[in-house]
Amino acid sequence: MVRVQFWGTRGSLAKSGKATHRYGGNTSCVQVTSPNGSLVILDCGTGAHDLGQHLLGETQGSKRGSILFSHTHWDHIQGFPFFAPLFVRGWHWDIYGPAGLGRSLRQALSGQMESTYFPVTLEDMGSSIRFHDLVEGSFEIDDIRISTRYLNHPSLTLGYRMEMGRASVVYACDHEPYSRSSGDNSVHRLDRRHAQFLAGADLVIHDAQFTDSEYVRRKGWGHSPVEYVSEMCQRAGVRRMALSHHDPGRTDDELDRIVAAVQVDLNTKGSTMEAFAAADGQVVEIKAATNAIPDARSESFSAHTSVAPALKEAKVIIGVSDPKLATLLEEAARGEGLQVDQTTDVDGLEQMAVLNPPALIILEDNPPTTDGLSISRRLRAAGDLRLKDVPMVLVGNRERSSSDAANDRSTHWLITPFSSQYARAQIQAWLLRSASRWVRAAMPPDEEQRLGALHGLSILDTQPEERFDRITRLAAEIAEVPIALVSLVDENRQWFKSAVGLDAKETSREVSFCAHSVSNRSPLIVQDTLSDERFADNPLVVGGPRIRFYAGFPLFHPSGSCLGTLCLIDTRPRHFSCATIQQFEHLKGLIQQELNSHWQAALDGANGGD
Ligand SMILES: [Zn+2]
Ligand SMILES: [Zn+2]
Repeated sequence: MVRVQFWGTRGSLAKSGKATHRYGGNTSCVQVTSPNGSLVILDCGTGAHDLGQHLLGETQGSKRGSILFSHTHWDHIQGFPFFAPLFVRGWHWDIYGPAGLGRSLRQALSGQMESTYFPVTLEDMGSSIRFHDLVEGSFEIDDIRISTRYLNHPSLTLGYRMEMGRASVVYACDHEPYSRSSGDNSVHRLDRRHAQFLAGADLVIHDAQFTDSEYVRRKGWGHSPVEYVSEMCQRAGVRRMALSHHDPGRTDDELDRIVAAVQVDLNTKGSTMEAFAAADGQVVEIKAATNAIPDARSESFSAHTSVAPALKEAKVIIGVSDPKLATLLEEAARGEGLQVDQTTDVDGLEQMAVLNPPALIILEDNPPTTDGLSISRRLRAAGDLRLKDVPMVLVGNRERSSSDAANDRSTHWLITPFSSQYARAQIQAWLLRSASRWVRAAMPPDEEQRLGALHGLSILDTQPEERFDRITRLAAEIAEVPIALVSLVDENRQWFKSAVGLDAKETSREVSFCAHSVSNRSPLIVQDTLSDERFADNPLVVGGPRIRFYAGFPLFHPSGSCLGTLCLIDTRPRHFSCATIQQFEHLKGLIQQELNSHWQAALDGANGGD
């Protein structure tokens, strides 16, 4: 059983009084208790005061907890200095939150406890406190697996998705739509990505400060209209939707009417989603979910940050002709401690970028005067590896669709007008998100045909077969390695037809070593991952199975597409002689024969043969 209790559901400002007494006036604070009894607190708005008193009154419990901060806007941290268990010796707290470029979470929290504002400093709290700076990714607290995602807010903000057994809870405060233009039926790709983050959750707690009619005058404030939240949750197949971060001006009766309107909409659409406005003190209990565990594979890298210091004083190139906009962007970047090179000459920008590749490129897209989109494509296509994954931000009054956008995760849009705070939050997110601690494999140029060939084999997700397993066993024996695999690189994953020494059936493609071999269509041998900057920080190196040595031999389809590899893995650095490598070329040939016969069988089946 997962237990969720709301202690603060108001946004922006605490609001006591007759008009808010039913839903409550405390700002954001939610308590989540996992099936194993682990305590997680989401944000410490003024609701944290009551929660603290409640925890101290409990006679049982481990005196251990974690606080996850979405961001450090006041309404989410103001209860922190009033959260009593922080002052009590014997309590242990792990505190998590988004890492900015310039300032750690600890610095942000201690800022509101300087003597001008508060009589006690952070250092004087009696409990033991550990701080953890987070980026996008995932991490674990006891029996809770947590994924983080940057939200759309004028301060660097993380949403949290918690998986506990088969139950899942998402906390998304504060956030506003990426795009909400009336009459537009298509959903923006970033809003689709947001819906993916919510997908199949048992409970979504979401910023719903406004209604659509209020939102039109409050775009850029960083908060969502109820109608958008409901659309996202329905699209995501959410079971229960808790509207939260209620506007301080919202009365209880108004909230009742809003929920009633949402209910009418859900009934009309035949949706079975449960919707309510969260109230201070309310408890929600979640039994084992009936829906499947959503796909979290693409987030299977660590959310703990080690990149922020490396990004400090990184360089940004800004190529924007409008002087006002250029100044705003320059100040935003400098505010984050970044170095800035400015240019209004577009060709100059290309030269600048090639000469000394920056960490981020911001350029104008204002056709027909300036075609930033083409420039960014040219820079990427030039084949300079240093510019391959550099985030490029196009600044314009609308987002232009591009056919390659789906595959390009490092091109972003900044739509005018925007505030300086918003630009700063986005600059941080772009840099932190792209600061790859390992190099992901490039997409093979024949990816579409390649996937067609792989899927045509009808081999994915089939049972293990002895005819493959005996070859991998032999390979592991010859090489004296603990792990040997037949790995097939699918669209988003690598799936193992045969696995010796590894329990996993698949991993994400993001972290795949084999995807490099597939992309280059050639054998890949990494003698020591720790001294190879393509892999040193790969999650399969820094975490299980702790790969130190890797050798992959590409497997080809008769059509010429590269499908995957026969690969060998060791947890120690190794060196293979040419003779050994030759032996694996032979073994790989045997695997290819087996794949071909599988393919032939699939063809015969399709042709109605026996
Ligand atoms: Zn807020
Ligand atoms: Zn906020």
